[in-house]
Amino acid sequence: MDSLDSKKLIRLSKSCINEAEKKAVMKVLDAEFLGMGIDVNGFEKSLSNYFERDVVCVSTGTAALQLALQAAGIGKNDEVLVQSLTYVATFQAISATGAKPIACDIDPSTFCIDIKDAEKRITKNTKAIMPVHYCGGVGDIEGIYSFAENYNLRVIEDAAHAFGTSFKNKRIGSFGDIACFSFDGIKNITSGEGGCIVTNDKKVTSIAKDIRLLGVEKDTEKRYSGSRSWDFDVKTQGWRYHMSNIMAAIGSTQLSNFNFSSKKRQELAKHYIERLKNCHEIKLIPLNYDDVVPHIFVVELQDKIDRDQIRKKLSDKNIQTGIHYKPNHWLTYYKDKKAHPLSNTDRVFGRLLTLPLHTDLEVSDVDEVCNHFIDALI
Ligand SMILES: *Cc1c(COP(=O)(O)O)cnc(C)c1O
Repeated sequence: MDSLDSKKLIRLSKSCINEAEKKAVMKVLDAEFLGMGIDVNGFEKSLSNYFERDVVCVSTGTAALQLALQAAGIGKNDEVLVQSLTYVATFQAISATGAKPIACDIDPSTFCIDIKDAEKRITKNTKAIMPVHYCGGVGDIEGIYSFAENYNLRVIEDAAHAFGTSFKNKRIGSFGDIACFSFDGIKNITSGEGGCIVTNDKKVTSIAKDIRLLGVEKDTEKRYSGSRSWDFDVKTQGWRYHMSNIMAAIGSTQLSNFNFSSKKRQELAKHYIERLKNCHEIKLIPLNYDDVVPHIFVVELQDKIDRDQIRKKLSDKNIQTGIHYKPNHWLTYYKDKKAHPLSNTDRVFGRLLTLPLHTDLEVSDVDEVCNHFIDALI
C-alpha cells in the first residue's frame, strides 16, 4: 500500500549486505578458522592489487591510524597537525600513540585542512600532518604534500571517507606517504569492522605487521600459513589489532562488488546535486563525483536556517539525518585554551547537515529526501 510504503524509514547510512557476503562468512565458519589466516592474506593481496602498493589490514580504521603513526616513529612529545572537523577517531588515534593532536582550522570551500592555518601551529615538535578527506574530497592534497616536504613532516592520510576516490586519475592510497582506510559497517566498503594501512614504506609495513600482533616478530607470515610463532621475541609495544578471517571474507566480497557500489554512491550524490543546486537556503560542497566516491553527503545550511527544526521535520517524515562532526577542539579531552581560534570550524559546524547516503537507496529515495528537505527549508 502506497501510504504505508512512503512511511518506510530512510536511514542515514547502513551496512549493505548481499547473499555473497553471507556465503563468504559461512565458508569461513565451516572452515572453523575464524582468526587471522588465509582470508586476511587474500584480502590484503586484493587490496594490494587495487592500490598497487603494500597493504596491512587491521581491526579498525582507528587502529590503522594509530599503528601507522607508531610505525612512522611518532609518539610521546610529538605533535600532529589535524583538522578539528573530523570524527573523534582521528584525534584518539593520535593521542593513543602519546603524541598530541594539534587542532587546525578548515578551508571553508573544501572542508579540508587549511594549510595556512596549520602553518601557524607548527612548533619544533611537529612531526606529521594527518589530512582528513572529508566526504571523500581531498582538498589541496598537492599543497599538503609540498607543505609537508618544506617542514619535513610525515603525511598520514585519514582516508576513511575516500575509499575509491581518485585525484588526477590516481587512486587515493596509490601515491603519497601513508594512507589509512576504514572498513567499518557504513564505510564505502565494509569488513564488519576493519581498516588498512597503505604505503610504499617497507619499514612502516614491517613494523605495522608486527605491532598489530602484540609486537610478536614475524607472526604474520606464520599465521598466513596456518601456524604461529611459539618461540619469539618482542622488542616494542604492540596491540591486538589484527583482522580476522570473518572480517576479511566480508571485505573481499565487498571489494569485488565495489565497481557497482562506488558507481551507485556517485549516482546518488550527483542526483542530490541536481535536485539541490538551485536551492538558495543551502550551499553544496563543491566535489566532482566522477572522481570522488562519497561516504557521506553533507550540505551547509545558510545562517538563518534552524538545523534542529529541519532535522525534526525530516525525522517526522521517517528520514534520518546526521551531523559530521562535532569539532574535536570543543571536547574536554582536546580543549586547548591557549590555541589560536579556529574561526571557520566554529562558524560552519552549526550549519552542517548530512543527508542519507548508502547503496541500498535508489534515486527515487533521494528524490523523496530532497522533496521533504526543500519543503522544510522554505
Ligand atoms: C570512520 C572513521 C574513522 C575510524 O574508522 P573506524 O574503522 O570506525 O575505527 C576515522 N576517521 C574518520 C574521518 C572516519 O570517518
